[in-house]
Amino acid sequence: MACILAIGTATLDLIFTLTHYPDEDAELRAIELRTSPGGNAANTLVVLSQLGHACAFGGVLADGSEAAPILECMAKHGIDLTACRRVLGRPPTSCVLLNLEGGTRTIVHHRDLSEYSDEDFRRIDLTPFDWVHFEGRDGPETARMVRRVRESRPDLPCSVEVEKPRPGIEAVFADVGMLIFSRVYANHLGFDTPRPFLFKIREQVPQAGLILTWGKEGAYGLDHRGEIHHSPAFSPVEVKDTLGAGDTFNAGLIDAYLRGFGLAKALSHACRLAGKKCGQLGLEGLGVNFSR
Ligand code: ADP
Repeated sequence: MACILAIGTATLDLIFTLTHYPDEDAELRAIELRTSPGGNAANTLVVLSQLGHACAFGGVLADGSEAAPILECMAKHGIDLTACRRVLGRPPTSCVLLNLEGGTRTIVHHRDLSEYSDEDFRRIDLTPFDWVHFEGRDGPETARMVRRVRESRPDLPCSVEVEKPRPGIEAVFADVGMLIFSRVYANHLGFDTPRPFLFKIREQVPQAGLILTWGKEGAYGLDHRGEIHHSPAFSPVEVKDTLGAGDTFNAGLIDAYLRGFGLAKALSHACRLAGKKCGQLGLEGLGVNFSR
């Protein structure tokens, strides 16, 4: 069992399951409504805890009654919240439209909480941790936190998820051991295929492991010898819910590296876990019968 710290968001997701995606200005009755805790870093920890790891979350937590499902979920999975900053207010909330026809998830998000900052991060004693993972949000703040990890615990593996283009996020690239990019970010830089994107990033980032998820086409990684590795996605019999697939992939990747797997095996391990997630609703039970 390893001890993992993740920094990022914990949100509330209102998930409407739909037979098809509605037209604008249409009215459509949902098949189901679920309320579920979400947020990239929180989701990744929920999965890692099910894989047997001790987990701690650092983020800004709203203390109002609307945040109760988030706190219950964290408690259920034994996720330590000591590093969180508590504020009065409403949790960041997402309205998620799950379209059963295509397995897509469309998200509308609202947030008025401040971001977790380097000042918050400085209060954390990094001694017990075996891995620290950041959701790449505020670029300059995340860069400061990552730099602090490198300076105070240079031996501590550190990953950053770069999911969306955010101002200044590139400042983290130089100090981190692993960068996990999304297709959205690659597309934003003008790349519509994985290989040229990974080689371009390698020009700026010689030291980090580079990973790129590519939806139902699986995931790619570029190793230090300049070799690209690819794992196909593991498609479930029926795609039920892709919400949190990327967060689950990240958990699988971290779990794989903590087990000492190399890049090719880690990609396949993470894609297998993410594929399992796509075949079920939500994140519960992902560790059950998941062979390593
Ligand atoms: P995000 O959930 O952040 O949008 P991706 O869509 O890239 O991230 O998905 C992350 C991983 O989840 C992929 O690398 C793949 O392994 C898996 N995945 C995504 N969609 C599917 C799918 N339809 N079937 C099987 N696996 C999937």
